[in-house]
Amino acid sequence: MSIKSIIKRIMRPVVRPLMVRIRNIVREELESVRKETVECKLSYAEAQLETDKILMRLAGLERRLRAHVRNEVPFDYSCDICDRRAFSLLFDRERNGEDMYNYICESCGFVFMWPRPTEKELMQLYQQSEFSLTARGSVMPDAQKYYDCERAAMVRYSDFQKHLSDACLDRPKGLALDIGTGVGSFVDVLRRNEYEAEGLEPDVTYAENSEKHYSITVHKVPLENFKPTRKYNLITAFNVLEHVLHPMRFVEDMRDLLHDAGILYLDMPGLDQMHTDIDKFFWKPHINTFTISSLRDLLQKCGFEPIYIGYSSLGFLDVMAKKDISASRTMKIGSSQALNVARAKSIIDAAYYQTGQLV
Ligand SMILES: [Zn+2]
Repeated sequence: MSIKSIIKRIMRPVVRPLMVRIRNIVREELESVRKETVECKLSYAEAQLETDKILMRLAGLERRLRAHVRNEVPFDYSCDICDRRAFSLLFDRERNGEDMYNYICESCGFVFMWPRPTEKELMQLYQQSEFSLTARGSVMPDAQKYYDCERAAMVRYSDFQKHLSDACLDRPKGLALDIGTGVGSFVDVLRRNEYEAEGLEPDVTYAENSEKHYSITVHKVPLENFKPTRKYNLITAFNVLEHVLHPMRFVEDMRDLLHDAGILYLDMPGLDQMHTDIDKFFWKPHINTFTISSLRDLLQKCGFEPIYIGYSSLGFLDVMAKKDISASRTMKIGSSQALNVARAKSIIDAAYYQTGQLV
């Protein structure tokens, strides 16, 4: 028997009575709220609010207790963003109902899946069409896929234009790169809007197909192996950052490819506004998860100055940023990171409570 399973066996009899005690305390609290309501000390709305607060606290306590018995803290991992080693389990399931462990870094609020795939496993997933088959629906895109992607590309371009206009920025003319090109629709939209746009897509089948379909150029390599001779004025990456093994290195690589006056525009699923129930939000290909604040910190740490961060018309966390050429790459962990951690945990507690599993 492993040390881990021995610890779990020891912990279970300790944790379970604790959970029973907490439930009893909550029941007593609820009963007192009910009595006060009956005695007309509280209006119904006030009583409901109090009840919600108590149940949400219970959700948080139960989630944290489960974390102690369900899985070990990844001792051999240093946070990809801040390099510290203090983590707690944030959520323990993925959309297919299987166990999947997402941790939060207690120093900076970065949320990540553990265990993580190796570089080799990730390369295999994306280069050999496995990802396209399971997540994009098929090895080759069909007519419906083109329709969906072209519609999404137009909505993204419209959001992009709006953020530029709100920030009173001119359109970054010239060379543009879309990373994680997929079927190629966004490169096509950029070209139709007079950019000299090209793509970068590690899935060779998808890349070759988009080259034929839209007559575009797609580099068929992962970002870390891409060594162009010219700098880009615009770099975009949609639904990409949540898939990469080292998000900080990935953002730094994008910075290196960008012209000093260039613009970066990204989107990804975000924790602040989950597009689905918590039970369906986390998913094995998404090995990183960001909030508005943790994404802002990452970009600043990588030498970017965010121009806009929010949620896009498609419901994704989106960010537009420009290079901060005076920025230091060694930004210290600030007080905002503690808020990132508390905020991410409270989002999960609230979402967990809303699933109604505890009542
Ligand atoms: Zn961290």
